[in-house]
Amino acid sequence: MIVVKFGGTSVKNPEALKQMASIVASHATQHPLIVVVSAFGGVTDLLQQITDEALAKKATYTTGIDQITARTEESLSFWGGDASTREAVRQILSRLSECAKSLFEETESSDAVSAEILVTGEALSSTVISGYLNALGTANRLEDSSQFITAMHEGRRVKVDYAATYSALQKLKEKEGVVVMPGFMARTPEGALTTLGRGGSDFSAALIANGVSADELYIYTDVSGIYTADPRFVRQAKPVETLSYEEALELSHFGAKVLYAPSVQPAFEKKIPLKVKNTFDPSAQGSLITSSDLISNKETVIGISHLNNISLITAEGADLIGQRGFTTRFFETFSQHNINIILITQASSEYSLCVAIDSGDADTAQHALSERFETEIRTGRMKPFRIESQLSIVALVGENMKSHTGVSGKLFSSLGANHINIVAIAQGSSERNISFVIDEINVKKALNTIHERFFEKQRKQINLFVVGVGTVGSRLLNILDLQHQHLLDKLSIDARVVGISNSKKMAFNEQGHEISKWKHHLEEGEPADLSVLIARIKSLNLRNSILIDNTASHDVSACYMELLKNGIGVVTCNKIACSSSLSNYQALQRVSIDQKVPFYYETNVGAGLPIIDTLKNLIDSGDSIHSVVAVLSGSLNFIFDTYDGRTSFKSVVEAAMEGGYTEPDPRIDLSGLDVKRKLLILARESGYALELEDIATEAFLPEGALETADVSAFLQLLEVNESHFESLYKEASAQQKKLKFVAELKVLSDHYVEAKVGLQGVDSTSDYYTLSGSDNILILYTDRYQKQPMVIKGAGAGADVTASGIFGDIIRASNYR
Ligand code: ADP
Ligand code: ASP
Ligand code: MG
Repeated sequence: MIVVKFGGTSVKNPEALKQMASIVASHATQHPLIVVVSAFGGVTDLLQQITDEALAKKATYTTGIDQITARTEESLSFWGGDASTREAVRQILSRLSECAKSLFEETESSDAVSAEILVTGEALSSTVISGYLNALGTANRLEDSSQFITAMHEGRRVKVDYAATYSALQKLKEKEGVVVMPGFMARTPEGALTTLGRGGSDFSAALIANGVSADELYIYTDVSGIYTADPRFVRQAKPVETLSYEEALELSHFGAKVLYAPSVQPAFEKKIPLKVKNTFDPSAQGSLITSSDLISNKETVIGISHLNNISLITAEGADLIGQRGFTTRFFETFSQHNINIILITQASSEYSLCVAIDSGDADTAQHALSERFETEIRTGRMKPFRIESQLSIVALVGENMKSHTGVSGKLFSSLGANHINIVAIAQGSSERNISFVIDEINVKKALNTIHERFFEKQRKQINLFVVGVGTVGSRLLNILDLQHQHLLDKLSIDARVVGISNSKKMAFNEQGHEISKWKHHLEEGEPADLSVLIARIKSLNLRNSILIDNTASHDVSACYMELLKNGIGVVTCNKIACSSSLSNYQALQRVSIDQKVPFYYETNVGAGLPIIDTLKNLIDSGDSIHSVVAVLSGSLNFIFDTYDGRTSFKSVVEAAMEGGYTEPDPRIDLSGLDVKRKLLILARESGYALELEDIATEAFLPEGALETADVSAFLQLLEVNESHFESLYKEASAQQKKLKFVAELKVLSDHYVEAKVGLQGVDSTSDYYTLSGSDNILILYTDRYQKQPMVIKGAGAGADVTASGIFGDIIRASNYR
């Protein structure tokens, strides 16, 4: 004989009922069968609502009854509904109205009447399903499971009288054919109707399976088995093929709703194989729960589950906590009030003791404990009980964890790297589970982080927020799109673009935008607002989040600190933050190191050239800088390399702007400010505490150029002053020199450096005489490179090289933790 249970979604509408019937028919050809059914999906919630409203004397409770009547009619009309089924249904519905009316009218509330209302869902569904199966030719009898199962409620706990239940179920043992039974319902020893708790139809089926010594127990639901994590929270979760009863118990105890926790024990006791399968995909393998000695290849960790709505109660008091008398009274208080303790932790100092309970019990617990320990609290022997709420428990489960070391190290390091604070930890002595308490807002992030670490060994997801989609940003998005598969294949990085913003619009997609359609997504997006953007990045709370700043915006750079502090990495080509005040630069570096959050800005100097990273490596490995001479402005180099007095200086500047070689405002390049900022960053990376004012500038622009109102006025002024540039050029070329805008840093002593930028005429003996186009060069003399300098040379400006430099930083940031 086998027992087959169908959950609420598996019978929720005509399509589901047809599916259910075909599964029942296929089992029935092979075995005598007991079919246990839940209420039609959502009906128990409606019944609870009817009860609550009737008790609150709200006449609106009848709306719920109308809805249930309509749902039931829907379940009958698609196959017609024979007269006797219809009559049985009519009686159940009329009894429902009577019960609800009595709650509405009576002043006394009655548990028995409330329970009778709640189990109406199963009474209806089992009646309809029995009639439907008969009509289809699957002959069956309907049995009332409340006649077999004896149980009562103690607080939130359901206590089954196993002996009475199993003995009553003997009668069903020898039955042939198909029996249909409602789940969820039971009777108290006094004969009143009661429930087995929400989700309790699984339990009914397991009790029946035990009572009739079934060969197998099938739980048909709306997912293909017990998943490695709740699939509503972790999209990558997948079904666990085989797990032991103990593992299933741990997972369900800590919240895996797919199986109501008390259902495991009855199956375990008789070693009945328990199969969790999908009604809507019955050929999918599903999960098999069986004895651990029958499982050959055991995984170390088989799943993660979680429970929300948790409160933590902490008892603190020197000399007191840990004493036997105290502990006994403490735990007694919970059991006296039927409060279920989910997790216990105690520091080895025994100064404090912490228990996790359902938040619904928190007030009762606090009240009861404060009363029980009133004297100790009043006399200062212990502190008042502390309650923290809005917490979740996450449990990592696996029978084989006990024979593997390093599981908790791996667990907590991945959480730490994602800034998930652990409020409390417990590990059962069976070592079958490691459970810990975190803030509820972090639960999704934690589940995904751990899931990725333990179940998606080959893959790391990074979540990018791209701000600025001009020439550089759009090229970057193009690279991210083209390289997405390559990153997955070669580096196991799944780089998703979750947010995109320009100054007008922003668009988010938690699952990652389809990058090739970013323009479209952005157009469809919401109005851009930087503070909303930052708040959204924080509230999405995705693991490995990184903001990519492709702007030259002061406002965006002003957000880095907040982002880093919240564990969100920053990759930027925007120089403003690193060339801002020394104290801000240092604070950003410190936060990045302290909080272990990536902060990369390689493209601040020399676009994609490996300048900052090289400097960092030299300094970190104990080298020290003697001098840096560099041509760092691709734009100025392009301009002075192109300009020969024949085409106007203004048109050369315009060409540089069009090629993306300049900052959006070319004055920042031509004033030398851009190069000054770069030299400042190099000096700081070399370990020198400089401010921008410490760098001298030899200006070359005609007077008034930097005071122009806007870019077009500036360009006009360049045109008017063409002769100024012509004479600069002629003077240099008369001496066979070329004009280069050079940045220099000279270390004069440990604490004293000289830094300057300016236009110089350089002759053919110079290393950078031949530097062409938008190239950059950096010549570095250090302790190690005293005679022959280290030279880094190459394309140092332009949207493509900058975008690929940012891409390089994103990869580095992905590997940061
Ligand atoms: P039924 O109505 O069939 O009893 P439930 O809604 O009680 O179904 O349980 C199935 C649901 O449990 C799934 O749809 C899924 O959302 C949720 N769930 C939570 N944790 C898990 C898990 N680890 N594996 C599978 N499903 C889970
Ligand atoms: N119908 C009940 C509930 O929704 C029992 C069950 O479906 O398992 O909780
Ligand atoms: Mg269920």
